[in-house]
Amino acid sequence: MDKPEKLMIDGKRLDGRSPEELRPFKIVAGALERADGSAYVEMGNNKVFAAVYGPREMHPRHHALPDQAVLRCRYNMAPFSVDDRKKPGPNRRSIEISKVTREALEPVMFLELYPRSVIDVFVEVLQADAGTRTAGINAASVALADAGIPMKDLVSSVAVGKVEETVVMDLFKEEDQWGTTDMPIAMIPRKKAITLLQMDGHFTEEEFKYALDLASRGCTQIYEAQRQALKEKYTMRKEEE
Ligand code: ADP
Repeated sequence: MDKPEKLMIDGKRLDGRSPEELRPFKIVAGALERADGSAYVEMGNNKVFAAVYGPREMHPRHHALPDQAVLRCRYNMAPFSVDDRKKPGPNRRSIEISKVTREALEPVMFLELYPRSVIDVFVEVLQADAGTRTAGINAASVALADAGIPMKDLVSSVAVGKVEETVVMDLFKEEDQWGTTDMPIAMIPRKKAITLLQMDGHFTEEEFKYALDLASRGCTQIYEAQRQALKEKYTMRKEEE
């Protein structure tokens, strides 16, 4: 798509949102039968599954750690998830996102409980519209809890940024592509602890502080929905018993 003439019109964004608004989102816990834990997340037009396996024996063995589990994350984009077909398989971008996903989640895990084991987290992006790493982290966090793996808390994630001169919440594709700044953030909302902060572009100090506050508000909304999704799954399970 060519660059739109304007990204903000009368204080509204091209998709009709106000600057502080999240895209409509949906979080489902336990979306896949075969995984030990799973989740499905939509954030706007992003569609993402997360599947968790483990804790289980590490293969290859020499990757195991003697005193803790390894959290192994793999972020993958389906070839049909973007406008131009994406070449299947890992690339620099997916390796980087896998790494930051792991780092965003590790602070809430009790990895020392499972020495010599691995917890595998697979994030599969079926449809991408900017912010897929944040959607993946939200899904992975719910999937880990759904697997019954002890956690200190949930991690919630959203990107904030700047389009033209306005700081905005949860950028969609055109804003990510044509805006000035993109800052994906993950946090443990109840602690206000940040576990991921990346930035592409620039902010003034004032804008940065405001953007961080906006991200915190977004993460809190997502956190509530993550908890709700887990509650719904748990209630369903109880009813089935
Ligand atoms: P994020 O998805 O976390 O925002 P990026 O900023 O790297 O990560 O990507 C922004 C968006 O660009 C993606 O969500 C996707 O819509 C698009 N994109 C990423 N990689 C490709 C690709 N190989 N081909 C086409 N579009 C892509």
